[in-house]
Amino acid sequence: MLTDSTRRALCYLRVSLTDRCNLRCLYCMPEEGTPSLPHDQILRFEEIEAVLRVAVQMGLTSVRLTGGEPLARRGVVQLVERLHDIPGLTDLSLTTNGTLLAEAAASLRRAGLQRLNIGLPSLNRATYARLVRRDALPQALAGLDAALAEGYRPLKVNVVVLRGINDELAPFVALTAAKPVEVRFIEYMPIGPLSSQSFFLPAVEIERRLRAEGPLQEAEPPLGMGPATRYWRLPGAPGRLAVLAPMSEHLCPFCNRLRLTADGRLRPCLFSDHEIDLKPSLRPSPSQRSLEEAFYQAAAEKPHCMEPQLSQEHRHMAQIGG
Ligand code: SAM
Ligand code: SF4
Repeated sequence: MLTDSTRRALCYLRVSLTDRCNLRCLYCMPEEGTPSLPHDQILRFEEIEAVLRVAVQMGLTSVRLTGGEPLARRGVVQLVERLHDIPGLTDLSLTTNGTLLAEAAASLRRAGLQRLNIGLPSLNRATYARLVRRDALPQALAGLDAALAEGYRPLKVNVVVLRGINDELAPFVALTAAKPVEVRFIEYMPIGPLSSQSFFLPAVEIERRLRAEGPLQEAEPPLGMGPATRYWRLPGAPGRLAVLAPMSEHLCPFCNRLRLTADGRLRPCLFSDHEIDLKPSLRPSPSQRSLEEAFYQAAAEKPHCMEPQLSQEHRHMAQIGG
């Protein structure tokens, strides 16, 4: 088991497959996009697999594929197939904006993908288009329905809430009454392109507004979710609701994560720009020993408790993987 100096077990790795995206969410990317990484800097699939085989031998059990938009990278299904074969990797999931999911949901499932999260910041077409700067809500909803039809459970829907833009919660409450989805309202982290604090709606306020929407009852968390997050549901509803507070709650003592950027940098903390470059351990050919050392270094250098910084010098969310 890979642990850090405060004995947090590091068992979860978010792997960014690409820094590119077909959307331009206000809270994540500037309108003009970000300068794309040169092709030869992006880890090849066999390199990602080599990193994960070592990490799993060191005790990592859970991998989430992310981006940018992971489904915008060609060959993701083949990557999932390869990763599914790694003994000891018990939890393989993917976070997507859903717009390319309708065509991919079935083949990803067959390849061994277990869980999906869909970023869906509004159910109103105009609001969605304003938020993601693309008129793509019908495609995202088709992706959601395809994922439900394929039996992905739990199916989490991530809603980053911006004050005054998409803080209308009622349509999402209605969604949980109609479909077995886990809607998670997420506090906006004022980093990256939209650094204004004025959009920030604290979790307590989201929760207060949520409770005003109906007779919510406490619900048990979905499979695979720890007790740290409280869930609610409308009586008899198939879906659940939750509020995540990355800014206003101090979640650092429970953090079990490392991140791998698309260009092969191991990042111990979302809020710190410190990264360890794995490419020298992978090229010209992977070195198990050197990769192990990099993971030990990441564990040793993982900050104990960071105040979330309100600006990041180096990367946007889409470049880190969220
Ligand atoms: N494109 C995929 C998507 O949108 O789900 C995966 C990559 S995206 C960077 C991963 C997650 O980061 C998204 O689900 C979104 O909710 C979250 N995210 C991006 N910017 C954020 C911000 N400023 N505050 C909070 N969450 C953010
Ligand atoms: Fe793209 Fe996801 Fe960032 Fe939106 S949140 S711009 S979909 S990477």
